[in-house]
Amino acid sequence: RVVVGTKVDQNHVNWVTAYNMLTGIRFTVSRTNAKMDRELTDADFKARHKFSFDMYDSKGLIMNYDFKFKDYAPWVFRHLRANFGLDPADYLMSLTSKYILSELGSPGKSGSFFYFSRDYKYIIKTIHHAEHKFLRRILRDYYDHVKANPDTLLSQFYGLHRVKIPYGRKIHFVVMNNLFPPHRDIHRTFDLKGSTIGRDFKEEDLEKNPRATLKDLNWLRRNLHLEFGPTKRKMFLDQINKDVELLKRLKIMDYSLLVGIHDLERGNEENLRDKTLQVFQPGGENAEDPPQANVLMRTPSKLENARKAKELRQIIKSQKPIPLDQSTSRMPDEVEQKPNRSYFYADDGGFRATHEDDSPGEEIYYLGVIDCLTYYSLIKRTEHFLKGLTNTESQISAIPPHRYGERFVRFISGITKTRERAELEKAAQASG
Ligand code: ATP
Ligand code: CA
Ligand code: CA
Repeated sequence: RVVVGTKVDQNHVNWVTAYNMLTGIRFTVSRTNAKMDRELTDADFKARHKFSFDMYDSKGLIMNYDFKFKDYAPWVFRHLRANFGLDPADYLMSLTSKYILSELGSPGKSGSFFYFSRDYKYIIKTIHHAEHKFLRRILRDYYDHVKANPDTLLSQFYGLHRVKIPYGRKIHFVVMNNLFPPHRDIHRTFDLKGSTIGRDFKEEDLEKNPRATLKDLNWLRRNLHLEFGPTKRKMFLDQINKDVELLKRLKIMDYSLLVGIHDLERGNEENLRDKTLQVFQPGGENAEDPPQANVLMRTPSKLENARKAKELRQIIKSQKPIPLDQSTSRMPDEVEQKPNRSYFYADDGGFRATHEDDSPGEEIYYLGVIDCLTYYSLIKRTEHFLKGLTNTESQISAIPPHRYGERFVRFISGITKTRERAELEKAAQASG
């Protein structure tokens, strides 16, 4: 059993969960990274380790509160983090140096919740058990792919864990890259799937929520393009093609290209720094709904609640961290980590627009392929369920992964062109 203790922010809607997630990550990541590096084995991809955490109050007395934490394939994720150029100490600092993360409840149909690390570098996303099982199943393919494709645009997974809290259920979660930078305003965000069915954010709701994530139809309505000149266009589309090939092979669908646009002329003048949370507006399909409180935990009985609250208040009041064994936080092999900035994240964390002559353009795009853990059969099941309810043709239009991927690539290729080229094409069309 492991002894831990630290401060938490008691105002957080569900800080117990966040606290346990951070504690588990801190412990398991430092545990793995403290060891000498070694080659991966087949067993590493299946590995899972279970930990039980006791909490102590300020007097060192054990409290009637503990939680269980499971760490999956720690060596694989250690290698993945190194591959993505993460510094282990930096990773731990971001996720654990401050006590709590920002949380945004996702009102999307998936039921996932998103937590941002204090510095906004990392996102913790709670995932469905089926997504969790699926990621473990495809971990080897994912690993091989990102090794072979250092510039992949797919979500970068840094860890896969599970937390089980008293009176609560099991919560699976991944740690991944936040595509958007902490230091730049994102003036517009789009979540693009290459489909038009239901892919419209109500324009009139933009006033209420100017930072909302817009969708395919909003993009087309604005006649926007990913403005890349010949060199970047080719690099970008080649990588999208390779990434989508993997997704097709693994029968994944429902993923999107997330695009955040920073307009260099507008810069940061709107001073949105204080509203950072609104820049990141998760929520998938139903992003127009307001964020909800976190409801991950089973509602405990009144008695349970009172007892837990008392215990937790004591932890907060004590405010005296019982540090992890210092020896476990050493990082003997930090030198192995080479910064590995991908081509698409090299322009101040993003990918700058270019003109037809490849000279720099006016925007920086922050982009990546997200939500790529939905296995085809899962969608089909949902669709059948909906069909049963409404007895009409489903609006989801769950086309098979192969066609999904092709439609996705076709859409992205179609919108990837410079202003100059778009205007030329328009003129050519007009003149017949
Ligand atoms: P659904 O399945 O209903 O689409 P979900 O809960 O699976 O939703 P995602 O599609 O993964 O959620 O993400 C929802 C939104 O969260 C995205 O549209 C985007 O605004 C934000 N988001 C997700 N992943 C990232 C990321 N890596 N970086 C920045 N923002 C992200
Ligand atoms: Ca999604
Ligand atoms: Ca999803």
